[in-house]
Amino acid sequence: MAVVLTNTLSGRKEALVPREAGRVRLYWCGVTVYSRSHVGHARALVTADVLCRYLRARGLAVTFVRNFTDIDDKIIRRAAEVGIPAAELAEREIRAFAEDVAWLRCLPPTHEPRATEHIPAMLALIEQLVAAGFAYAVPDGSVYFRVRRFPAYGKLSHRRLDDMEAGEEIDAAKEDARDFALWKGAKPGEPWWSSPWGRGRPGWHIECSAMATGYLGQPFEIHGGGSDLVFPHHENEIAQSEAAAGVPFADLWVHNGMITTGAEKMSKSLGNILSIGEVAAQAPAEALRLLFLGTHYRTPLDFSPARLEESGRALGRLYEALARADEVAGGPPPALPVDGALAEPPTPFLTELCAAMDDDLNAARALGLVFDRMRELNRVLDAGDRAAASAIRRELAAVAATTGLLTEVPATFLETARRRGQERTGLSVAEIDAAIAARNDARRRKDFREADAIRERLREQGILLEDTPSGTMWKAG
Ligand SMILES: [Zn+2]
Repeated sequence: MAVVLTNTLSGRKEALVPREAGRVRLYWCGVTVYSRSHVGHARALVTADVLCRYLRARGLAVTFVRNFTDIDDKIIRRAAEVGIPAAELAEREIRAFAEDVAWLRCLPPTHEPRATEHIPAMLALIEQLVAAGFAYAVPDGSVYFRVRRFPAYGKLSHRRLDDMEAGEEIDAAKEDARDFALWKGAKPGEPWWSSPWGRGRPGWHIECSAMATGYLGQPFEIHGGGSDLVFPHHENEIAQSEAAAGVPFADLWVHNGMITTGAEKMSKSLGNILSIGEVAAQAPAEALRLLFLGTHYRTPLDFSPARLEESGRALGRLYEALARADEVAGGPPPALPVDGALAEPPTPFLTELCAAMDDDLNAARALGLVFDRMRELNRVLDAGDRAAASAIRRELAAVAATTGLLTEVPATFLETARRRGQERTGLSVAEIDAAIAARNDARRRKDFREADAIRERLREQGILLEDTPSGTMWKAG
């Protein structure tokens, strides 16, 4: 097998080559825990989840590390606004994050380290950089990385040092405006740890360098995150880690594109952002996942409630086909474990699905195949071919293992969707049942005008009726 991924470092698709046969180490930058995670974070989380799932499904043992940045300027600022200690704010937001990520159905990482639990490793790395002349301390107790000492600086973001602007830290004691902080001397009232340079706290970038190599060693196979992290965060991680160890940091750098709304980037400062909790109130988690996977992970994705709804409807059609198959078979097939589910794809459809995913995780192409397969499933069900239906149904179970879509029991999913839709209409189930009974009554009296009027009234309220041999069914459309 050959999975290729676009490597931001080279700008090209490159084969994933495990340094140890059968094992892949993946570090994905997690969130800074100072406020609720939003749809942009959700996209990064789902991208990492699909990457991890797919590699595991293909038979690779993946060690997946996703960190928490639980000490940072933003946390300190926000905690001061709220009037609680920074550690308490971080703890609260970590709990909220755990709910969000569980709702998204992301597989738990192998390790989920917090920056504040790895301060000694960060200090050791900074001391090493100071000793080798790559870093220097200034009088306020901060330590900076000397970017001019690292000639490859800019290789990830494809920028030349001379074209770069000053870093975020404004400190007259810096040798070069572009030098970045490894350690920040503590200001009054801020949380601090002891260091050889006095009280202070780590810079953001050193956290990930220390945690990634601490859990995965160096070099490791894949480092990823949102494309907004390429510069300066990942560029700085590379500079620190490669300057210290003298070997590459990571082989492949994988970045997901941003979320836009209309033509604008979605961001907190623009105020056009939807939290994961807000999305959860509107749609099932898999509708959001389906929306994400319909666009290549590197491409910017335009998000709107209307697109989310459209994904929900497409997802409903997939589940309806599965539910039909399950009804014929007397229940759903057992869920497949993720590990090794597609180590050797057993059918032409799954071989094609893997070919799409092998090619830089082209989930949009894979989904096209899944929808084709669903149409085929409906066709064989219409034809009464039970054997063909159950074969396709089993194939679609492998889709769940690899993409995190179609993971629910179809009948349960559809019932939940029905209830959610019914709640939106403002009609109670009893009211809908009463309207259906009145319509049946009218039909018995051959008052078809009245029967049609009742159906039309329900339709206007968002309830669609369907007459089947076993009676009139309804769904919220
Ligand atoms: Zn990071």
